[in-house]
Amino acid sequence: MSDISSRLADIRKRIETTCQHCARDPAEVHLLAVSKTKPISLVEEAHRAGQQDFGENYLQDALPKTQGLASATWHFIGAIQSNKTREIANHFDWVHSVSSEKIARRLSEQRAPELGPLKVLIQVNTSQEHQKSGVNPDKALSIARFVAEQQNLEPAGLMTIPAASADAELQRQPFRVLRETRDHIRDTTGIEGFQHLSMGMTGDFEVAITEGATWIRIGTAIFGSRS
Ligand SMILES: *Cc1c(COP(=O)(O)O)cnc(C)c1O
Repeated sequence: MSDISSRLADIRKRIETTCQHCARDPAEVHLLAVSKTKPISLVEEAHRAGQQDFGENYLQDALPKTQGLASATWHFIGAIQSNKTREIANHFDWVHSVSSEKIARRLSEQRAPELGPLKVLIQVNTSQEHQKSGVNPDKALSIARFVAEQQNLEPAGLMTIPAASADAELQRQPFRVLRETRDHIRDTTGIEGFQHLSMGMTGDFEVAITEGATWIRIGTAIFGSRS
């Protein structure tokens, strides 16, 4: 087995073990391989090893890969500048990092309708003192409603990038906040399909799974460290 396929197998095993411990169905936990800064050859290798979903942060770095490997499913997970929304809207299947109505409106207006709705996650700031990106949890509800009204968007849930923490209980807290925010929005709005929690990276994905993650975003543990 190549490096990448054995690393993928190792992560899938860790997902299964964690799901056993917290009595979850592993089929509910989707693995997003974060390929930012990595060459397309490695993405293709992962795809051949059965990995379907890939995440990218930087549009210019991502476009040759999304165009070169159209059979994969592409997720945009980085900061979104207004002047990049057209390309993001038309070269990705999911966007995890929507944090304003303005960006949501542009993504909807600029997405080609024949592509079907773009799946949108709202990025939430769950550890306020440390973060710059994402909306406060109490603002996520109104953005979710706004996204639900946009013709070419499908509101699918929430995403967060918590500050790193060495303390296990502090590490868990932001994931719990995201889950409770999702539950509140789902119950309040009745938006069908508002179910996803994109949370957990190489260093903390097992904790995120025990708190309900449905997408874990893994870069380093699959592709190695980034320069
Ligand atoms: C880079 C990145 C990841 C992957 O991080 P690793 O620690 O390498 O697994 C996940 N999510 C986002 C938003 C990122 O920017």
